[in-house]
Amino acid sequence: MWNLKGWIKQQESNMLELIETLVNIDSGSYIKQGIDKVGNVLSGEYAKIDFETEVHEQQKLGNNLLIRHREAVNPEILLIAHMDTVFGEGTVAGRPFSREGDYAYGPGVIDMKASHATTLYALKALMESGSEAFKNVELVLNTDEEIGSIASRELIEQVAKTKKCALILEPAQNGHLVSERKGGGKYFLKVHGKSAHAGISAIEELARKILKLHALTDWEKGINVNVGLISGGTSVNTIAPFAEAAIDVRIETWEDGDTVDSAIKEICSYSEIPGTRLELTGNITRPAWNLTAEAEALIAIITEEGQKNGLELLHEKSGGGSDANLTSFAGIPSIDGLGPVGADAHQESEYLYIPSLAERTLLLANVIERLSSK
Ligand SMILES: [Zn+2]
Repeated sequence: MWNLKGWIKQQESNMLELIETLVNIDSGSYIKQGIDKVGNVLSGEYAKIDFETEVHEQQKLGNNLLIRHREAVNPEILLIAHMDTVFGEGTVAGRPFSREGDYAYGPGVIDMKASHATTLYALKALMESGSEAFKNVELVLNTDEEIGSIASRELIEQVAKTKKCALILEPAQNGHLVSERKGGGKYFLKVHGKSAHAGISAIEELARKILKLHALTDWEKGINVNVGLISGGTSVNTIAPFAEAAIDVRIETWEDGDTVDSAIKEICSYSEIPGTRLELTGNITRPAWNLTAEAEALIAIITEEGQKNGLELLHEKSGGGSDANLTSFAGIPSIDGLGPVGADAHQESEYLYIPSLAERTLLLANVIERLSSK
């Protein structure tokens, strides 16, 4: 007798082959050509199962893709998986896809090239099983998640508004789902001084602002303001005519986002040293994502579907943001961490735990089926 679980397990080598192809394309957020290549591979795979791709072209960043089945009518479930990685050009040449026993390695293997394989094969599995649920999904494959989804945010929010829920395919650390994430943003401060006039030092001005910015950190409230990069000056015996800083912000609630944003703007609105001039850009790009009752109901469904196949799924709060921050901000229940299991995202030691491919594919297929049965 045909069985869904068995069919998926048989697809493991095909999934690994696709993952190898995707990992071996350098696709850091700023490598448009590489990301578009990844997009072409994926839209080609989806075309084979009659899914159509709407290409949202971009000048500098990779093209975002909106994908759904040819016969889909008002699909209710939004699936999101990003195609960019944090690794620059040439990374693949140095350490391409590799495999050792139950583990696979390579740039972006778990964050999140492997998720594209589980997503594609979950839809194929539904198709094989005779279910129609694959027509109830729409996919956004975006190209700038690792740099805050600044350009894909509008598309995500617009598509989210027409959906009942969002399933985000970020990898599963320790196999856990993600139900809440911190929000945050990045700011850039430029300070202009006057080198000819003793005392009007851009570096001194910046130093004073850094102290004020860091003082906004409130560990109890989970507010973190960190100046992580500074540069400036021209030589050791010259008054610095210019200095700049990059500021990273993390917040726990939407309200804190507004408060911290106003405070940063206030601090950078005037100079401490007369004669210096400040220029601030940036904002909160990811609203904080907090657990809602609707999302808890969604978690209950997912954990039940996991239990049916022996998966004990827990959910947790994660420090970093993702596109779930955006879909939940758009007002729909969202759950993240539905991708395969692995760890060390953004590091050389990043790995995928291969046996989780089949498990997570089955879980995703069952969840989509369940959410689609009326
Ligand atoms: Zn990711």
